[in-house]
Amino acid sequence: MKKIKTFIRFIKGLLLKFLKFTVNLFKRFLIFIHRKKRRAIPFYGLFGYIVLVIFLVKISGDSAYNKTLANKRVNDVTQINPIQVGQVVQPHSTKEIIKAIQTTNGKISIGGGRFSMGGQTGYNNSLHIDMREFNKVISIDKDKKQVKVQAGITWRDLQKEIDKENLSVKIMQTYANFTVGGSISVNCHGRYIGHGPIISSVLELKLISASGKILIANREQNVDIFKAAIGGYGGIGVIVEATLQLEDNVKVERYTKMVDLTDYNNFFSTNIRNDTNVIFQNGDLYPPNYDVINNISWKKTAKELTDTTRVTPEGENYWLESILVDVVSWGNFGKWVRRKLIDPYIYGSDKIVWRNKEASYDVAELEPKSRAEKTYVLQEYFIPVNNIQAFIPKMKAVYEKYDVNIINVSLRHAFPDKESFLSWADEEVFAFVIYYKQGTDNESKEVVKKWTIEMTDAILSENGKWYLPYQPHATIEQFKSGFPNSDQYFAVKNGIDSLHRFNNKLLDKYNPYLKPLIERERENIKDYYRDEEQTVLTVPEWYLVFNPKEYADYLEEGKNPSDFPFYASIDEYWKLYDRSQKLVSEAYPANKEYNTMLQVIGVSVTMEYAVKISYENTIGTFFGWFANDSISQKEATIIEAQRAYSNFIYNTAWYEFKFMPWIGKVWKASDNNDASWLREWERTLFFTVEFSFKAFYAQLIGLAAESSYEEPTTDIYLLVSSEKELEGINNVTVIKHQNDKKIIAIPRWGTFTETILKLSDQNIDVIEIGGNDEIVVSYLMNKGTHHKFDNLEVLYSSDVVTNINKIRLVAMLPVNNLLPFVHYTKNNSIELEHVFDY
Ligand SMILES: Cc1cc2nc3c(=O)[nH]c(=O)nc-3n(C[C@H](O)[C@H](O)[C@H](O)COP(=O)(O)OP(=O)(O)OC[C@H]3O[C@@H](n4cnc5c(N)ncnc54)[C@H](O)[C@@H]3O)c2cc1C
Repeated sequence: MKKIKTFIRFIKGLLLKFLKFTVNLFKRFLIFIHRKKRRAIPFYGLFGYIVLVIFLVKISGDSAYNKTLANKRVNDVTQINPIQVGQVVQPHSTKEIIKAIQTTNGKISIGGGRFSMGGQTGYNNSLHIDMREFNKVISIDKDKKQVKVQAGITWRDLQKEIDKENLSVKIMQTYANFTVGGSISVNCHGRYIGHGPIISSVLELKLISASGKILIANREQNVDIFKAAIGGYGGIGVIVEATLQLEDNVKVERYTKMVDLTDYNNFFSTNIRNDTNVIFQNGDLYPPNYDVINNISWKKTAKELTDTTRVTPEGENYWLESILVDVVSWGNFGKWVRRKLIDPYIYGSDKIVWRNKEASYDVAELEPKSRAEKTYVLQEYFIPVNNIQAFIPKMKAVYEKYDVNIINVSLRHAFPDKESFLSWADEEVFAFVIYYKQGTDNESKEVVKKWTIEMTDAILSENGKWYLPYQPHATIEQFKSGFPNSDQYFAVKNGIDSLHRFNNKLLDKYNPYLKPLIERERENIKDYYRDEEQTVLTVPEWYLVFNPKEYADYLEEGKNPSDFPFYASIDEYWKLYDRSQKLVSEAYPANKEYNTMLQVIGVSVTMEYAVKISYENTIGTFFGWFANDSISQKEATIIEAQRAYSNFIYNTAWYEFKFMPWIGKVWKASDNNDASWLREWERTLFFTVEFSFKAFYAQLIGLAAESSYEEPTTDIYLLVSSEKELEGINNVTVIKHQNDKKIIAIPRWGTFTETILKLSDQNIDVIEIGGNDEIVVSYLMNKGTHHKFDNLEVLYSSDVVTNINKIRLVAMLPVNNLLPFVHYTKNNSIELEHVFDY
């Protein structure tokens, strides 16, 4: 206690000293400034200016705005596969699923627990059916040891119910967070001995097809659908119900043994394979040498429990486990710590638990503190039992070549599955479950892709297969050789879902029926996909184009430039900024870089307008009193310059504008005798200072842009459907076409809006723009007038600062409604101001 007090006193002393030092420094600085007036005036001028800018930023904006866009991003546990879907439904009944399917006509993706790791649960702009709320136990037949469930139920929720009857899931994964539908759709497996994939425990499925029809599939009825849907990755239909075989919940005791890799096959076949008392088993193969296996098996027992928990509860704190996983990821030292310290500690004690307890681990125990820069990912290889000794050196060589940070390799056993079309076990195999750490940046992703393709070759060379719920890096050729029965799977799919509505990133890559589609070309076009949030976020940036236009309009109308509403303009910018930030806050990942840019330009314009407010409300107003009705040539040229600038920035970065020649033009313009010479010269000088400063600032920004910015994307790509040739239309380039479908490119920015205005008179259906299904537009209307256009969501209204009778509406609409809406504005005297092109 005494020590703590002394320490606090010491810290207090230090802080006081620092405070004194700072105050003294400031005092000295003030004395220095006050010693001479020529220092004090600029100092206080600058100080006042900074205070004014901060004040203006603080009092501007719209912090009360609270509308947010719906979150339509589907991602998985790794956080590296975000997919923007078009609509998310969370059904509670079969009827709701049928309705969702029948009232839409686009692609459909299905999500369970979202633990698959390569876009298997999402597809861009699709109707996403999130099954997690469709999660009831329908019936339990205690005598037959069978259960019927809704497919969105998690294993843990099911375990909680069947545990009451002392029953247990027959086959499932190690962790209990997965949904039954998701597990069946990947044909999962676990550490169970004497079994293979889950299919052998599935008795019947109820599915909803792409047309909304209910189908029952089992080993007698709709047999092909049964074989295709299990391990079918949501490509056949929505599994709404499943009937599963259960087993008794028994007590199990843990046994561990270190086995040399070379002895493993022999050890396994002698001690584990045929022992009906072994319920769970796995062998941990230690990196980086991959020469010893820690065999962990759980055998039925009648002994006393060491832990009486029946099912692992949710919400436990796994801080220690999370740290341990992190420690193991510290290179070879971490691997040594695991083998020599962590594992001996974990497996050092006796353990006798319920089967349900051992089958209900929580994935939370693997969750790191953050997945922002590094994430943990799984892969799994299925190698025929007799080929593992030959495979392991090949696997090791790939990991060593690419310096892959392997945390764990867990071997499990599976008997063959001759039923499912996408079967991963044609023969008896050992599954190698690989847990590794990777970077989340694009470069790291590319490296993973490279080594995964090499690993897939190694797997194929030993007649193995790999697990499809993980990143689908394998090439189409590799997929075909690994899964030769995929032809049968896709034939069944094509028969029941001929429009291939059920889709996701995995099926999209390997489905041979999708091959000829023009949609495939999208992946080959650089910058085809644009981030959807950009259409919302770019509005304030565009305000800095609309506002100079308003200024030029204002001057052309002969109004007094000193009366221009500079403060209202700043306020409007920050309002648009606050609103766009709020709108995207829940729907999209944070776009820090763009937000910083918006803050920088917002502060820059506030600084510029703060000067103008100060000047125009004092000197500007004073000289305005001398103005008469005539306008001098110089002032007319200034107006021309402001117009040229405002036109220029619709299509080009502001800092590329040539400011200096306009100063020359203004000075060269002849004097006009009728106009007030005082006002003329005051305006000329003010303009000269303004444009000179902008020219200087533009040079600086231009240099910075050259050295740091990437080449900007100049075109936006649209997928459209049109019978008409579009070749001749100005600014439209047809990149690819197939029948009526076309991928066209249109230059971005101002030209984009102009071209959309032109296209609105053509018979064209827009399918997507920049890979997105929604876009933001702004349009101007007289206050008090109303319009009605379906499917248009007005996000907010904004002021036209120079005209109190007008209002700017910022709205979001589906891209397929863009051209009809533009057409509507034309026919209803609504001024379409801008289409925000991401
Ligand atoms: C930490 C961890 C450990 C794992 N351990 C194992 C393991 O031991 N054994 C193993 O086999 N796998 C394991 N996996 C992989 C896991 O089994 C699969 O990813 C499984 O699909 C997860 O279930 P889910 O509910 O999250 O499914 P999701 O990832 O949500 O979906 C998987 C696929 O099923 C489809 N789908 C989901 N629900 C339905 C439905 N109702 N109807 C039709 N299609 C549907 C989806 O469209 C998708 O294609 C593990 C994964 C993780 C992250």
